[in-house]
Amino acid sequence: MGHSGKLSTSISAGIVVKIVDVLCTGCLHCIEVCPSKEVLRYSAETKKVFVHDVDKCSGCFACEPVCRTNAIRPIFKKYLNM
Ligand code: SF4
Ligand code: SF4
Repeated sequence: MGHSGKLSTSISAGIVVKIVDVLCTGCLHCIEVCPSKEVLRYSAETKKVFVHDVDKCSGCFACEPVCRTNAIRPIFKKYLNM
């Protein structure tokens, strides 16, 4: 609310990426396609990927289609508050 008209210039900053832990198989496909090497990290302890630095996510959505279990979900922030 009160934030209209900015979408075209703020898309990259308007995305958060979330990983549903229980669905992640640790296949690393998302890390392989992610253009930023800062967003996602693999944990040897949990054998899953986690979000390391969400602010580096460009919102390209490349990770979503390569995840076979639908564990990784880029989401527009504006939808989180609805
Ligand atoms: S592509 Fe999906 S299942 Fe594979 S590591 Fe990434 S989030 Fe986990
Ligand atoms: S949306 Fe793009 S930049 Fe963000 S985590 Fe997925 S592949 Fe990486």
